[in-house]
Amino acid sequence: MRQHDWCSLAKNLKIETGLFIDGHFVEALKGNRFDSINPATGKVLASVAYGGEDDINRAVAAAKQAWHSGHWRHMAPRTRMGILMRLADLIERNSAELALLETLDMGKPITDALTIDLPEVINTFRYYAECIDKIDGVVTNTAPEALHMIQREPLGIIGAISPWNYPLLMASWKVAPALAAGNCVVLKPAQQAPLSCLRLAQLFIEAGGPPGVFNVVNGDGPVTGKALALHMDVAKVSFTGSTAVGKQIMIYAGQSNLKRVALETGGKSPQIFMADLENLDAAVERAYGGIFDNAGQVCNAGSRLLVHRDIHDAFVERFIARSSQAYQPGDPLDPATTLGPVVTRAHQQGVLEKIKQGSLEGAHLALGGSAPAGMEQGAYVTPTLFTGVDQNMSIAREEIFGPVASVMSFDNEAQAIAIANDSIYGLAASVWTQDLKTAHRMVQAIEAGVVWVNCFGDGDMTQPFGGYKQSGNTRDKSFECLLGYTQSKSAWFNLE
Ligand code: NAD
Repeated sequence: MRQHDWCSLAKNLKIETGLFIDGHFVEALKGNRFDSINPATGKVLASVAYGGEDDINRAVAAAKQAWHSGHWRHMAPRTRMGILMRLADLIERNSAELALLETLDMGKPITDALTIDLPEVINTFRYYAECIDKIDGVVTNTAPEALHMIQREPLGIIGAISPWNYPLLMASWKVAPALAAGNCVVLKPAQQAPLSCLRLAQLFIEAGGPPGVFNVVNGDGPVTGKALALHMDVAKVSFTGSTAVGKQIMIYAGQSNLKRVALETGGKSPQIFMADLENLDAAVERAYGGIFDNAGQVCNAGSRLLVHRDIHDAFVERFIARSSQAYQPGDPLDPATTLGPVVTRAHQQGVLEKIKQGSLEGAHLALGGSAPAGMEQGAYVTPTLFTGVDQNMSIAREEIFGPVASVMSFDNEAQAIAIANDSIYGLAASVWTQDLKTAHRMVQAIEAGVVWVNCFGDGDMTQPFGGYKQSGNTRDKSFECLLGYTQSKSAWFNLE
């Protein structure tokens, strides 16, 4: 579709704005609403129902009723599989509409929403649907007078709290495995991008999902998210967001019912370029894609570029020349646009402030560093590159969550690893080298949950995705993640 077609589709889009509880849309009990703003235009996109603590209680009660009815958790595995497969098909059929909601709500380019986010959401539901009848228990090797079975059971009610950078995808990484394992879910999406998840819940019912099994309550963090994380009937909170809020979620679990807490939090991922890498052009292309895709609003964004001194100047020169061509800010509804606005005006100001700080601390601003001229209506930030960065500078230590990269040079492998690991984060990293032994050594030495060799951001649903250190305590995607939504039950039969 062309830009014009997306604009007319946007004009005629029916946007759901209620809370989704027990299988249908309802108003918030107190009737409160908040505005969802399109960050490309600064205009109000929709007025959305704002759920308070009473609404969270209502949603958890609906989930509890669905849980106790047993309709979902005791459904024959392949019947449950059929519903999630149908949901995946419905998402596919409604891809254009869902992609449009993402773009209007949080500013990502429509081509990215359509070719990255939506296919990944569909993959996520299909993968976890396929896993349902692969969850095995075991019978252990006991004396003949006993039979010992260990089976896996769902946990109960899952509170899912998700971020705005890939609104539907990050929510799906929680909702799909939680539902596949037989749990009931209350999802609290990020208030900056609340719309697409409402549609997802509606499609779940259309696919044949029982009411109450999947509920969505929009609202903010300190009230709505907190009420969910403190709720005594929630068995587990699965959270993706900032490290600061992740710490708070652990406190809520301790203050309430010791619910399980799964955290996927921030990152400051190093991309390491050794002097012997095979193809500098390919490496540079992945380097800027790794930080400028989604306007840098990616948890594993490769924001620290560690470049061997021998190739530093050639690397920087190509990075600047090519990335400024490849990432031009534009209207996210134009299929040719590669760089949309960041999610809100406030976030834009925060990113620009961190850029200013980088310059004040003595880094050299080699590219960008401002809001692009002529695009003041939107929350845009130009692709930005700092060179001459010291590891102690704030731009090298703090997560910026915008299109801002820092280049640091190194002389040898040990130095590269020391810089890479000198971070409170450990979500992801990449290593570029032709030498298999170097690659293998570095993979072992790097403190990160995901290490890419001669690529960046690659993977499929079998890949456990999550962090070391303060980047989190769990893994999304993969079978490992699905098991995190189950618990073991040991049944010991006395046969004497
Ligand atoms: P955030 O921490 O501000 O918010 C995340 C979610 O938590 C939102 O739904 C928010 O409403 C809710 N929340 C905020 N305060 C809360 C509270 N006190 N109690 C309960 N819930 C609360 O993060 P964000 O700005 O939405 O997202 C960006 C962050 O997410 C970045 O740090 C990024 O690295 C991280 N992230 C991590 C991954 C991963 O897989 N590790 C993936 C995507 C994003």
